[in-house]
Amino acid sequence: MVSSTPPSVSIARRGLMLVISSPSGAGKSTIARTLMDRDPQISLSVSVTTRQRRQSEIEGVHYHFVSQREFERLRDSDSLLEWAEVHGNFYGTPREAVETAMGEGRDMLFDIDWQGAQQLQEKMAADVVSIFILPPTMAELQSRLHRRAEDTEEVIQTRLNNSRAEIEHWREYDYVIVNDDLNSAFDAVQSIVKAERLRRDRRHGLFDFVGELVK
Ligand code: 5GP
Repeated sequence: MVSSTPPSVSIARRGLMLVISSPSGAGKSTIARTLMDRDPQISLSVSVTTRQRRQSEIEGVHYHFVSQREFERLRDSDSLLEWAEVHGNFYGTPREAVETAMGEGRDMLFDIDWQGAQQLQEKMAADVVSIFILPPTMAELQSRLHRRAEDTEEVIQTRLNNSRAEIEHWREYDYVIVNDDLNSAFDAVQSIVKAERLRRDRRHGLFDFVGELVK
């Protein structure tokens, strides 16, 4: 008798490096966190930063908060896969965690700016899938930054002033999502991840699978 439920077939694939960028307040961090909560196959790359910790942030979860001196030591010893100065602070991606995850075929999520996205694209183009999140309007971006109420007015103004320059880089990304509704934006990200995992060139296990299939 033929069973109606096909056996589940697992085909080995390379991990994705999922890069998400946006101006501050466009919803990127919320989307990233939701993705982490719902998709156990994805790990978050926890960056190092010289920025002051916000009250809601936890060391080692949101960032590794380091001094300027420690940041320079990490950068100069080639421990960072990419790094950049953003809004007057330094941020960087620790190399080791990424290399371990990629070696094990796990997916990694990077919440980084356009400078970091460019560097990862140059170094690891085959594994990078990049998504840019746009706010529906600049007024909405401004009100989201105020609603967050975790930064001083001066910091908010710096971020707003920098957001236009960040948005200028939208063309460098594989996918662009306008976040006028968080659920729809999240659905779009999930669809991208689902499709990118199925790409033929990422699924090296297909060689053995198809070989067996047609034997
Ligand atoms: P925030 O201070 O709001 O946490 O982050 C400010 C900006 O820095 C955001 O656009 C964020 O994506 C970016 N960022 C965070 N970590 C990194 C990193 O490791 N490298 C780069 N290039 N940008 C980062």
